[in-house]
Amino acid sequence: MAINTACNELGQTWFESGVAENAVSGHIQLIVPGVTACFACAPPLVVASQIDEKTLKREGVCAASLPTTMGIVAGMLAQNTLKKLLGFGTVSYYLGYNAMQDFFPTMRIKPNPTCDDSNCRTKQLEMKDRPQTPTGAANKEDEEDVVHEDNDWGISLVGENEPDVEPEEKEIATGIKLAYTVPAPTSDDGGDLVQDTELSLEELQRQMGNL
Ligand SMILES: [Zn+2]
Repeated sequence: MAINTACNELGQTWFESGVAENAVSGHIQLIVPGVTACFACAPPLVVASQIDEKTLKREGVCAASLPTTMGIVAGMLAQNTLKKLLGFGTVSYYLGYNAMQDFFPTMRIKPNPTCDDSNCRTKQLEMKDRPQTPTGAANKEDEEDVVHEDNDWGISLVGENEPDVEPEEKEIATGIKLAYTVPAPTSDDGGDLVQDTELSLEELQRQMGNL
């Protein structure tokens, strides 16, 4: 909450993330003061009700899932931070993770006009007057092709040998399809082999000598 207060005061964009008490869900959230909900706008229950976290019952906590859930959420956090800082892809405002269903909800949470943080409310009013500008999230329009001027190692992309035969768009499940298919074996297999002849070894040697 202290970080939230400081960032609201400075107008500093930051990422907040967390793993739920049950250790099988988590989320990351991009907080742009005045534009998206801050930590105080919609705080987790334990913070809002000022209950000591230590007093919470921990029934149903799957301790075995905690490191993996944390690892996955940390990976999502690092990935989105890189996207934000390096300006590629689309940065998620909110990306959740539900380990039980492998469900990744995304959404954008508006700031709460009655937020407890006065700086958050001030920033909300400031942002209302300002024309809509890309906030870094979803800044796809200034995406440029990546060009590396130096190429000391001579790395280059080459096309596939096989011409692109339109792969059959087989849908495995809703929203999931094959990224590529294995090319069918070509019929001219063994084309590099020397054809059988009826000539004897001596005759072949003589032919070689004539070359
Ligand atoms: Zn707020």
